[in-house]
Amino acid sequence: MHISGKTKIIGLFGYPVEHTLSPYMQNAAFSHCGIDYCYVPFSVHPDRLKNAVEAIRSLSLCGVNLTIPHKEACIPSLDQLDEEARIIGAVNTITSKSGRLIGHNTDGRGFVMALVEQGITIEGSRSLIIGAGGASRAVAYYLSRAASNLYIYNRTRQKAEALVSALSYAGGNAMVIDDISSVSDYDLIINATPLGLQDDDPLPLDPGLLRSSQSVCDLIYRQTPLLRQAARKGCRTVDGLGMLLWQGVYSFELWTGMQPPAEVMRTALLSVVK
Ligand code: NAP
Repeated sequence: MHISGKTKIIGLFGYPVEHTLSPYMQNAAFSHCGIDYCYVPFSVHPDRLKNAVEAIRSLSLCGVNLTIPHKEACIPSLDQLDEEARIIGAVNTITSKSGRLIGHNTDGRGFVMALVEQGITIEGSRSLIIGAGGASRAVAYYLSRAASNLYIYNRTRQKAEALVSALSYAGGNAMVIDDISSVSDYDLIINATPLGLQDDDPLPLDPGLLRSSQSVCDLIYRQTPLLRQAARKGCRTVDGLGMLLWQGVYSFELWTGMQPPAEVMRTALLSVVK
């Protein structure tokens, strides 16, 4: 990689950031397109987030991605939110236009594209999301508009209720459910909790209740125990790698205004996860 005085810098703010895969796909895309950009992760302690966001202006960064735990906390420091980020209440991408910082959220769109390319239809489906955190909110924004019925289950019921209210205010439809014994009722089931990051985590649902006609998605980037069990039951399964890819593709487009080389980005990602 050649860094010059003209190189445009895109950052990633997270805490921690050591595990991130985004630099591989973004730098591969910049290099493939022959553009003078560089993607650099920054470990930003939550107490320093405000300073770090201000530094986007001071250092004339072109933009940044935000990851855990900054997606919501960055909002008060921004000048503007696009509609998706405003309704979702979380930002994973910031663009800087002449020092004016605009927050976007490409996670939900990325999730939908990951399903589309696997041939999974959300329009008219009965869908269940487990979890009501930032990732769930992004996914629910799209599903609440397209699915015929969207149900949300969360360990902390009030957070699911708050999400349903926000969706309804934005013209979407969703309902809170109190337990997930009805797992067999849904066409599409999405785990949006971190359960499965560790192999000894409890499963987010009882896989014995799954039917082979169902699709089961996990937002975690790898084959989780849930996905392995669902595949054994004959379900279609999708891990979170496609969502990671496509949210990055849409972020690339926001920063550069160019057509993203999605297949180059996919190859770069696969080369580091396999
Ligand atoms: P978050 O904002 O912290 O939300 C976590 C959600 O999971 C909350 O609803 C929380 O419930 C629930 N939860 C946490 N621990 C639980 C447990 N032990 N049992 C039951 N529920 C539990 O996190 P997030 O940003 O939404 O991320 C969620 C998952 O999505 C993570 O695994 C993350 O890696 C993944 N993700 C993937 C992508 C991608 O591109 N593929 C993008 C973003 C996130 P409470 O409300 O009760 O705390």
